[in-house]
Amino acid sequence: MSIGLRIDVDTFRGTRDGIPKLLRILSKRDIQATWYMTLGPDNMGRHLRRMLRPSFALKMVRSGAPSLYGWDIILRGTIWPGQVISEHLATTLRKPADAGHEVGVHAWDHHRWQVGIDSLSDTELDAELARACEAFVAVYGREASTAAAPGWRCTQRVLGLHSSMSLKYRSDCRGPARAFRPRVAGHAIDQPQIPVDLPTYDEGFAGSSRSDASWNDLLLARIGDDKPHVLTIHAESEGGSKASVFEEFLDRALASGHFFEPLRDWLARHPPSGEGSIVKGTVPGREGWVGVVGGGGR
Ligand SMILES: [Zn+2]
Repeated sequence: MSIGLRIDVDTFRGTRDGIPKLLRILSKRDIQATWYMTLGPDNMGRHLRRMLRPSFALKMVRSGAPSLYGWDIILRGTIWPGQVISEHLATTLRKPADAGHEVGVHAWDHHRWQVGIDSLSDTELDAELARACEAFVAVYGREASTAAAPGWRCTQRVLGLHSSMSLKYRSDCRGPARAFRPRVAGHAIDQPQIPVDLPTYDEGFAGSSRSDASWNDLLLARIGDDKPHVLTIHAESEGGSKASVFEEFLDRALASGHFFEPLRDWLARHPPSGEGSIVKGTVPGREGWVGVVGGGGR
């Protein structure tokens, strides 16, 4: 069955090191994906440091956060100011597009959006997205057609932002892998939403002592139900210390007859089946709220 493959690139190091590594892994297997890029300053160290507070530390250490993300990511934005990714790494950001992959907007400042969305005004949020879209044009020489909110921090408020209107489709929420037209201010908009149904690696390991091999077993069991799925990987983990785990997953999935495609192709294959909404919810293993598919009208 078809699996929409989405790659979130959240950090400077994920861009610099994770993008080339994942490109090699995917091109070896003739796979293309959708890459959501963070274009502004890398302040993700603030986020990870916050996650390392005592109540979370045990889980993170058990999940191997320092080896998963690297200490430079954990410290970035705390000891030294975050570098603007699109200014330093434009050539690397272009590599997936040059190789025919789909690219879209993830964030200007991933950290600011992820932790600040509840306190940022509509104007401030719109400015974050607008800056990301402008940087996208500067890097790729064309407008973005798709976006994915950092950390799935999205409500219908985000979809109503001026800067969001020109996007053709978005992938902002968690839920069954069925595209839908989201309702904004009571009306369904013609901007399909692609929910992500499969768990991410870091979610799978939160608070557990699961082995990498059993993680792949779990993912393969989830996709073995003859239904379409959408998977998110991260340049920082699957393009870093978990690359060989991811390669093993790809090879086992391909051997079982699955195939991977960018979200634009996945959407063409599985067009929106109705209307829906995005509401605040939670997913196991992830801290705080995320946008989830709400009920009604489906
Ligand atoms: Zn992200």
